[in-house]
Amino acid sequence: MAGIYIHIPFCKQACHYCDFHFSTQTDYRQNLFNQLLQELHFQKEYLGNQPIDSVYLGGGTPSLLHHLEINLLLETIAKIFTLSENAEITLEANPDDLSFQYLKNIKLAGINRLSIGIQTFDADFLKKLNRAHSSETAIQILPLAREAGFTNISIDLMYALPNQSMEQWQQDLSKAIQLKPEHISAYTLTIEPKTVFGVQKAKGKLATPDEDTAASYFENLQEELFKNGYIQYEVSNFCLPHHYSRHNSSYWLQKHYLGIGPSAHSYNGDSRQYNIANNHLYMKAIADGHVPATLEPLTNKEKINDLLLTGLRTIWGVSLLELKENLNYDVIKIHENKLTTLIEKQLAYINNEHLYLTRRGLLVADKIASDLFI
Ligand code: SF4
Repeated sequence: MAGIYIHIPFCKQACHYCDFHFSTQTDYRQNLFNQLLQELHFQKEYLGNQPIDSVYLGGGTPSLLHHLEINLLLETIAKIFTLSENAEITLEANPDDLSFQYLKNIKLAGINRLSIGIQTFDADFLKKLNRAHSSETAIQILPLAREAGFTNISIDLMYALPNQSMEQWQQDLSKAIQLKPEHISAYTLTIEPKTVFGVQKAKGKLATPDEDTAASYFENLQEELFKNGYIQYEVSNFCLPHHYSRHNSSYWLQKHYLGIGPSAHSYNGDSRQYNIANNHLYMKAIADGHVPATLEPLTNKEKINDLLLTGLRTIWGVSLLELKENLNYDVIKIHENKLTTLIEKQLAYINNEHLYLTRRGLLVADKIASDLFI
């Protein structure tokens, strides 16, 4: 099974923290959309004959697409690839784009999962982040999507926002829990240098919670979601039973995926492929008949480190047997002392030839993984 990701590189306005690839200039949108369809044809061999069990329209803002465009994208995928009957087909959406009629139309077009970028329910923070939606829309959007027939909804939340108190964060989290989404992705705000927040931070004009405070928000998140029946299946991803995101999981479970569109990347087990992150150069290349991508074959070392970094962030852990037998990396032998310390400190445990992190261990997952790198 494999996945397809399609990047829609347009947004109505730039959020102050965002360094994803997008443009707010949309006059050439139609042309770019046509090139996405063309790229799907160019890339038809990339996944071999693997059936596709997950399609993800991400961005940017895919909910800027007309429902007929979504229909056409999905029809094109179904014509070129073997799309599983029960494939998870997700649209990443901003709350302000989702009218009742639009929701019904995209459901008919084949979208069966929504990933809604709420980020926060707090009106002041929404303004600070420069999000396009209001606090009221954030609260109303889930019931509306339910009414339109969606039974699989994920929301994105952010914590450790500038000057955010623990109480404000708890209010946000509690509103999210009341809405009972099947899936919650919650990320700490990271300040990227080229964003508005990055510039403010460099000038000393942005106060964000320190690492310890951010860690206490994370622990609160784990605790509250656990109490409410959510499973933390990856550091930042939580779901009700049976609602793991196939798309998100494919990255951590080394499933193959094809990325379409500017800045999208692909993975086929042996290499990664990165499409150019420039809309105009992307369109020109596709019009000239080729995909503007850089290919990076993966070395044994990169495969080992990738497995550790991704596996340790999940409840599926990392297979020590796979590392030893397929990649010739015996973690137990090489890192015996480090593993003993991790286990003594109750940050990790070994079961059935897999290494797993505990809830506390997940807090420092990337640090633990890098200590075990080759
Ligand atoms: S966070 Fe989403 S909506 Fe905001 S600028 Fe980034 S891609 Fe666009």
